[in-house]
Amino acid sequence: MRVVITGAAGFIGSHLSETLLDRGHSVIGIDNLLTGDRENVAHLRDRDFQLIIHDVTRYIDVAGPVDLVLHWASPASPIDYLELPIPTLKVGALGTHNALGLAKAKGARFVLASTSEVYGDPLEHPQKETYWGNVNPIGPRGVYDEAKRFAEAITVAYHRHHGLDAKIIRIFNTYGPRMRIHDGRAVPTFIGQALRGEDVTIFGDGSQTRSFCYVTDLVEGILRLADSNTNDPVNVGNPHEMSIAEIAQTIIRMTGSSSQLVFKPLPTDDPKVRRPDITRAREILGWEPKVPLEEGLTTTIAYFRTKI
Ligand code: NAD
Repeated sequence: MRVVITGAAGFIGSHLSETLLDRGHSVIGIDNLLTGDRENVAHLRDRDFQLIIHDVTRYIDVAGPVDLVLHWASPASPIDYLELPIPTLKVGALGTHNALGLAKAKGARFVLASTSEVYGDPLEHPQKETYWGNVNPIGPRGVYDEAKRFAEAITVAYHRHHGLDAKIIRIFNTYGPRMRIHDGRAVPTFIGQALRGEDVTIFGDGSQTRSFCYVTDLVEGILRLADSNTNDPVNVGNPHEMSIAEIAQTIIRMTGSSSQLVFKPLPTDDPKVRRPDITRAREILGWEPKVPLEEGLTTTIAYFRTKI
């Protein structure tokens, strides 16, 4: 296959590119390096891979045939989208429109990287795909959540109206090498603080929960969805739910750090619980996560040691 990946120089996009190349496909990455880094794909330089530096909120054209478009471009960490509210809304809206237009013009399949944030601060737990969510459109996080909700709506419209074979994956918290240490997400932040021997900062009392999926498990789920016949949204994430304090303590133990936990006020609209119901992924894709937390953290901690 010839695959176009928007956001290819980002954390997940770079792993997706690598796995597709390993499976014998050709990859064209499109990225404007807003939150990504060329270094993430530097090791793919001599393979069947090219990186086009381009902002996907502007018209996208790629020469030659395309079989699959994976639309991954978007700031994804709270620090990024709070600093970049308008680019986040634009890439979710205009960027998704352009990526869908490319798939339509080429007769390609399309997969949208959506997010568990479409469920907002959920009133249903764990979250099933049938849940419509509890999102504050005008809260600070609304710029990301509503951009992704719009992206889902236009993706479904292209499927229903134009017959595009479009799919939606709702990704839950994912971690692994090539995240940025200062991107504000829990795992890299805690690892960075623990490795530097600094206090580990917990927002709130640490009882809020998250479910962390290792990036190789996520990539397998994405590629199974791309190959599937479904056009319904599918949750992909690890249902193993932990409190934020528990994950911080695990990281402190695994890094052998003497860091202490410190507690700061919870940001506005921060979800209190988050756990995917992955029944649909199990039934339709035969997918479930395989990498235990400690194994994924070992690789991730080793990566961040090289960065500090
Ligand atoms: P990331 O910031 O590492 O990657 C995003 C990439 O998109 C970056 O390389 C960035 O430069 C690029 N980009 C942003 N705006 C662009 C534009 N206008 N034109 C071209 N490129 C642009 O983030 P990530 O964690 O790899 O997330 C990738 C995707 O997965 C996002 O769509 C995100 O919403 C989704 N997602 C991620 C998670 C997670 O836990 N990492 C969870 C849910 C959803």
